[in-house]
Amino acid sequence: MNEAVPILRVTNVETAYYGRLTVLRGVSLRVAAGQVVALLGSNGAGKTTLLRTIMGLIPDQPEKGSVEFTGRRINGWDPENVARLGIGYVPEGRGIFPELTVDENLALGAYTRSDDIRPDLERVTTLFPVLRARRRQLAGTMSGGEQQMLAIARALLMRPRLLMMDEPSLGLAPRLVSEIFATIRQINADGTAILLVEQNARMALSVAHFGYVLESGRLVLEGPSEELAGNANVQELYLGITQEQPAKGYRRYKTRRRWA
Ligand code: ATP
Repeated sequence: MNEAVPILRVTNVETAYYGRLTVLRGVSLRVAAGQVVALLGSNGAGKTTLLRTIMGLIPDQPEKGSVEFTGRRINGWDPENVARLGIGYVPEGRGIFPELTVDENLALGAYTRSDDIRPDLERVTTLFPVLRARRRQLAGTMSGGEQQMLAIARALLMRPRLLMMDEPSLGLAPRLVSEIFATIRQINADGTAILLVEQNARMALSVAHFGYVLESGRLVLEGPSEELAGNANVQELYLGITQEQPAKGYRRYKTRRRWA
């Protein structure tokens, strides 16, 4: 168990689409203030569904269990209020508005704020200088990496205490992947906790303090990231490292949660 005092606590969550297609089956995880937590898992495991459940984006879900943020139960809250409470979300595919300029996208990111956003605009454009140079460019005409930076910058304008990111490195060239991960480190060093969904397990575990592995809607492994990175099953399934001795049956770990 992630022992640090959590700001996000997900307990036994079950989520179904249309009330019948059950995707999450009793998921419990925690993110502490200041932590980076990686959520790994193969395609279709339910990672995006978990982030969307936390954010309140799936109507009437979770069906069971609870989602608590800073001690408040947020099941059933709408996404706007979840964001106001301090959870930022950078969805897979980025979710920016391609027909709007960089500036307009950023302004939309802060639409629920009534105070002066200029200091935060300054902060995010310092984090991503490329955005400052492209303020009037249509977002849809920017490169994939620039769009990802815009999506992250937009989420940061709400000053989240927790930033949830879904596959931020997807489709990016290796140099940009390194840049995005350096930024994730920087955002975390500035005091924001991060829940990171990533196919790039190696990078995710290198930046995370703690990690969880989700398979078919169930968490099958969890631990400090260096332990996960050393786990034979994780190495074989997510890090592309072939074992000299075949890894012991994965099912064993599912039921016993033991380390290799
Ligand atoms: P990936 O790494 O491929 O993005 P994931 O772990 O994020 O996968 P999800 O996108 O959460 O997985 O999908 C989990 C399961 O839920 C899949 O079987 C998917 O087909 C199903 N699913 C996702 N969105 C919906 C939806 N809107 N309606 C019905 N089923 C859905």
